[in-house]
Order: sequence, then C-alpha cells, then structure tokens
Amino acid sequence: AKRDPGTSYRFYDRQLHISAGYQLRLEADLRNALRGKELELYYQPRIDLATEEVRGVECLLRWNHPERGLVGPDEFIPVAERSGLIVPIGYWVIEQACKRLQESTELGFPGLVFAVNLSFRQFHDRKMTETIFRIIFNANVDTSLLELELTESAMMHDPEYAQRCLRELNQLGISFALDDFGTGFSSLSNLQHLPISLVKIDKSFVQELGQSADAEHIIRAIISLAHSLQISVVAEGVETDGQLEFLRQQHCDEIQGYYYARPMPWNDLVQFMNRQNQS
Ligand code: C2E
Ligand code: CA
Ligand code: CA
Ligand code: CA
Repeated sequence: AKRDPGTSYRFYDRQLHISAGYQLRLEADLRNALRGKELELYYQPRIDLATEEVRGVECLLRWNHPERGLVGPDEFIPVAERSGLIVPIGYWVIEQACKRLQESTELGFPGLVFAVNLSFRQFHDRKMTETIFRIIFNANVDTSLLELELTESAMMHDPEYAQRCLRELNQLGISFALDDFGTGFSSLSNLQHLPISLVKIDKSFVQELGQSADAEHIIRAIISLAHSLQISVVAEGVETDGQLEFLRQQHCDEIQGYYYARPMPWNDLVQFMNRQNQS
C-alpha cells in the first residue's frame, strides 16, 4: 500500500521516544498548549460528488509547539487521551468550530457543515451532553451544521451512556458520522439503532483501490449497505483520479482527500472558498 512518508516517520518517532519521561513532558507541554493558545484547527474540505461543491469541512487539530514546530494529532492525541486532557481539548475544538461556523455564515458560506472528531475518552465525561449543549447555546449556531465524528469503538466503554449522549445531542440537531468505517469493530446494529447519518470509509481501503480487489468489494458493500439505510457515505484519503472515478461510479456521496485539498488554516480555507464561489 502507498504510504504517506510523514505518517510512517511520525510512527517511528513515537516508538523511539515512548519512555515515561517523554510522555510526562509531552503531557505538561500539552497542558500549557491548551492554556497558551498553541492549539489550532486546520480545515479540510469535503466535496459533494454530484454537485462538485464543498459541502463541509473536517476540523483537524494541530499543535504549534514553540520548539518542535507544527505537531500532528497522531503524535499528541494518544497522550491527551491517556491523561484525560482530551476532554477539555475536545470542548475547545467544538467551541472553536462553532466560532468558525458563525463566521462562515457572515463570510457568505451559509450551509457549510463543520465536522469535529470525538475521542472515546470524551465519552467517559458524565457531563458531555450538558457541556456541549452549553457551548452551542452560547455560540448560537445552527446545530444542523454541526457534525460529530466518532469511531464505533468509542462507544464500547459504556454503550448505554454513549447511546444516550448521541440521542440527546441528536435531538438538539447535531448529526453523527461513523469514522474509519470498516476498520476494527464494526457492528451493523450500530447503523440501525444509532442516530448516524453518515459513514466515512477509512482511507486504508481507498488507498488500496487498484491494488486489491478486496478493497473494491468492501467499498461497494459499505456504500450499498449505507444507502439502503438512508445513510450517506464519505470516502477519505482520496488522492488519485482512479480512486475518484471508482467512487463516483459507486455513487459515493462525498470525497475528502489530498486530490481535492489538504487540511489548511482558516484564512487559507476562506480564500479557497472564495475561489470556489467564483468558479
Ligand atoms: P481522521 O479523523 O481519520 O482524519 C483524517 C486524517 O486523514 C487527517 O489526518 C487528514 O489530514 C488525513 N488525510 C486526509 N486526506 C488524506 C489523503 O488524501 N491522504 C492521506 N495520506 N491522508 C489524508 P490528521 O489531520 O493527521 O489527523 C489524524 C487523526 O487525528 C484523525 O484521523 C483523528 O482521529 C485525530 N484527530 C484530529 N483532530 C482531532 C480532534 O480535534 N479530536 C480528536 N479526538 N481527534 C482528532
Ligand atoms: Ca475524522
Ligand atoms: Ca477517518
Ligand atoms: Ca483515524
């Protein structure tokens, strides 16, 4: 399979420095980062294949580390999860996304969906619904434009509590996407019983298109299953014409990937959207 060199480097790096001391330093740094405005959201557009319009953006965390530069989430989210820091960080992400959502309407991009990732660890917080409710109430945003992405394993710790959170938030207008769909533990009953309006096909399948017949079969099956349940499908990690064409033929609803745009800072996204609107 094709590999993003950045990703394998980061993984290597993590393996090398996985000492307790390193963990603790990272954790302390991260605590400061949250206080000191070193965290930033990047935004990656998601394109509707039928209309070729930007339907929404996924908000992706970045850390502007004073010494180490821009640090990707694969490096610090595991630490944030282990320490519990992902809970306040996660709320900060939703708050920030709501601000940008408000701004995007003022800038003339109404209807742009903002997707935010939720960690399994955030479902350990007994005040999750309450806190999210307060954030969106204060931000006064159209909740139908807010989408939360979670993996199926995120709900495994306490499925009943997680389901209740999803229902309550869904009643406020928030929608949910199953992330990394097809990897790990997938239960079809989740699709049926949870308020899920979207599944995201994991990039590992997309990137094996053309190299593995299995990847094709799996993607076809996911799309047909989802559609038969009135659930939309986004394919992530789309990088090539070939992948795009296959997904179009299979009636995949939206694509997200470097082929179209990389995750970018807010100001770049605004320029990108303005160019889109002109063409
Ligand atoms: P994810 O939710 O699966 O996000 C998609 C990842 O795929 C992003 O990596 C994105 O930059 C990358 N990607 C998108 N298109 C392509 C492509 O065409 N090719 C390749 N090779 N990669 C592509 P990123 O930004 O490094 O984020 C990694 C993971 O970190 C995310 O995976 C998500 O699990 C986690 N993450 C990011 N932001 C947050 C956050 O605010 N909260 C939580 N809990 N997790 C986050
Ligand atoms: Ca995601
Ligand atoms: Ca994903
Ligand atoms: Ca992932």
